[in-house]
Amino acid sequence: MKGNLLKIKKYVKEILKLIGEDPEREGLVPTPERFAKMLIELTEGYRKNPDDIVKNAIFESKFDEMVIVKDIEFSSLCEHHLLPFFGKVHIGFIPDKKLIGLSKIPRIVEVFSKRLQVQERLTQEIADFIINKIKPKGFGIIIEAIHLCTVIRGVKNSTAKLVTTKMEGIFKEQRIKDEFFNLIKK
Ligand code: ZN
Repeated sequence: MKGNLLKIKKYVKEILKLIGEDPEREGLVPTPERFAKMLIELTEGYRKNPDDIVKNAIFESKFDEMVIVKDIEFSSLCEHHLLPFFGKVHIGFIPDKKLIGLSKIPRIVEVFSKRLQVQERLTQEIADFIINKIKPKGFGIIIEAIHLCTVIRGVKNSTAKLVTTKMEGIFKEQRIKDEFFNLIKK
């Protein structure tokens, strides 16, 4: 990534000129490198394979009640404006013989969120990945997030949260869905 870091730094310097700034001004001299490092850090999900996270973390289990992992904090960059969106992810599932180490779930969220995203796709990608690994009887995910691109561009109710959900298998049934939503709200 060293080469990429230097390239990004060079382009950021150009961008600073294009917006009418002087990149040699004292306060701005370290900015291109800082920005380059930050951008690489915020997109490190491209260089991580979620399969590696769960490699030794899927095991057989007879447990067949609902499992909830809620309030997983995340931040991501929206692919439309390269501005952050951030909030919480809540996940629930009912296993079918296979369980996943629960401490791995926030790390899975991390890999997919540290890429350029739209919230709907982030929701779908996390769901697809976990479902594919453990084939649960049902799976549900809720993501609630604030998008800075909306906040700073002064749209009315700009701090409104965007909520996306995905329900699969028996989580499509109203009774299960209600149980999931109630457990998240607690
Ligand atoms: Zn945006």
